Amino acid sequence: METKKLDIVGGDYQKNIDAAAKILKNGGIVAVPTETVYGLAASAVLDEPIINVFKAKGRPQDNPLIVHISDMDMLEKIAAEIPKSAKKCAEKFWPGPFTMVLKRTDYVSNRVCAGLDTVAVRCPSEKSIRDIIKASGIPLAAPSANISGAPSPTTYSHVINDLDGKIDAVVCGEDCLYGVESTVVALFGEHPRLLRPGAVTLEELREVLPDIEVDKAILEEPEKDEKVASPGMKYKHYAPKTEAFLVEADEVSFADFVNKKEDCLALCFAEESELITVEKKIYGKKTDEFTLAKNLFSALRSIDNLNKKAVYIHAPSKSGVGLAVYNRLIRACAFRVIKL
Ligand code: AMP
Ligand code: MG
Repeated sequence: METKKLDIVGGDYQKNIDAAAKILKNGGIVAVPTETVYGLAASAVLDEPIINVFKAKGRPQDNPLIVHISDMDMLEKIAAEIPKSAKKCAEKFWPGPFTMVLKRTDYVSNRVCAGLDTVAVRCPSEKSIRDIIKASGIPLAAPSANISGAPSPTTYSHVINDLDGKIDAVVCGEDCLYGVESTVVALFGEHPRLLRPGAVTLEELREVLPDIEVDKAILEEPEKDEKVASPGMKYKHYAPKTEAFLVEADEVSFADFVNKKEDCLALCFAEESELITVEKKIYGKKTDEFTLAKNLFSALRSIDNLNKKAVYIHAPSKSGVGLAVYNRLIRACAFRVIKL
């Protein structure tokens, strides 16, 4: 199929938003910008477009999708129960890079939730996807718009690279503001539980949810066949083809370590770049985790072009947005961590 390119930056914004909404209402699938990563959107209330999303991405059937909404009325249709904690989180973190998992109604397609009795919901802050939801009048299921397992797309060219010819259209907007997927919190059990870290940080969550628990799969490899709270966490993700290692070290030890390696790439911080004598790529500033998050997936996508034997990635701190970056990187490195 031909994938239409709907340019909302250089082209007519409203015309292209309306065109995207029309395709989605008619059961098509369209990649759209969000403030986290580009999403592959489909009507959450129809089966067939959801089946097509799984097919286009090559996504495992048991990995449920996040439903994107534009207002609280939509949440009431989708969620069977909205506990006080959910209302508080919505007030504080919506619209924004925050997803809550709640008990669900039958309003969205079973396939969106992969057979679970819960649903993940997010109200994004990116204007264009909200305008598309409003124009179509339906909630949109939207996983990241990449081939399953590849680094998530943070620019429309990443989307075209992965999905051109497999989806109906791409809304070509700006690069994503945060660059990592949303924070996911389960709010239906006894205690709130962080299932995936993102740009809404654990420190911010603790202010609203003092009893929040952190799922151990965030920083550890799940055992084979272990049942995980968030199905997405058991899959290898974001991995370049080059063998990747995550290195926990201070700046001098990291530089000493990589400088002795042959045929390798160092993915490092701006602050330490001068210490490194092997081929290097900077993925942001150690002291500004937002820059690391924003550049992370572009950097991971570019590694394989260099045809190196290995890439050594300097691990960020696990505080603030650093936790989200670390969580993506241990998966990109298939849990190979070197501690110096
Ligand atoms: P993506 O669509 O690629 O951003 O991934 C969505 C993430 O949300 C995956 O890790 C899913 O496993 C998780 N998720 C979606 N729905 C649920 C749910 N009902 N319960 C737990 N995790 C969910
Ligand atoms: Mg994804």
